[in-house]
Amino acid sequence: MRIRVLGSSGSEVPGHNPPAFLVDNFLLLDAGTVSLSLDREAQCQITHIFLTHAHFDHIKAIPFLLDNIVSSDQGCQLTIFSGKEVIEDLKRNIFNDRIWPDFTALPNSLHPVMRFQEVSPGEPVAVRGYRVHSTTVDHSVPAYGYLIENSSKLAVAYTGDTGPTERIWRLMGEHRVKALIIEVSFPDEMLELALASGHLTPSLLAAEIQKMRALPEKIYITHLKPFYRDVIIDQLAKLNRPCLEVLVDGMVLSI
Ligand SMILES: [Zn+2]
Ligand SMILES: [Zn+2]
Repeated sequence: MRIRVLGSSGSEVPGHNPPAFLVDNFLLLDAGTVSLSLDREAQCQITHIFLTHAHFDHIKAIPFLLDNIVSSDQGCQLTIFSGKEVIEDLKRNIFNDRIWPDFTALPNSLHPVMRFQEVSPGEPVAVRGYRVHSTTVDHSVPAYGYLIENSSKLAVAYTGDTGPTERIWRLMGEHRVKALIIEVSFPDEMLELALASGHLTPSLLAAEIQKMRALPEKIYITHLKPFYRDVIIDQLAKLNRPCLEVLVDGMVLSI
């Protein structure tokens, strides 16, 4: 499994892009950054998008991605997977023929460029040799974490945005997870805001790590708020966990 980090920031400033992880060139975990990072041919290769939740930083690139692939006229199609509430939010608030076109009817409703498919915890989705498991996490809106397992039963887990949580650690405990991508959005001084908005700080991450039955070989940190990036990195270093690594946009992970 090859994961290209298109974006790993909790906001957007030059050099730091919203979350998007491209797996084997065809599967996206979140879609905060796509069309500014990939050429049109690479955009057309994306067939599956698994969204953690409907917050803008995680869906921002989808409208332009669809606009680019529908106008490429190559018959490219993609399916957006997420929980029921997330899909309802996208239909009602984004692809409603007002903010942006309803791409489930373009170029025509028989062969649309976009489809939606709901995921349910406990019902993994089979995708080109992978099994994608989902579970709910604890954010300020309905949100899902994912675990992608290959045919050798090795897995990568991604929390998306979450505060202190439980179910994804149980899901991870049932699989051989080589790498975890987890959010840490705020420094420890902003604990109150982190908890109120459903995010983690370095100290909260340390408590989440204690809940894991087995530690993954690597724990990659994402979603740092860019103005606090240096402080968060200092505080993460003090946790003294050699498996921790802060993601940088453009990195490629081989798992
Ligand atoms: Zn969020
Ligand atoms: Zn976010």
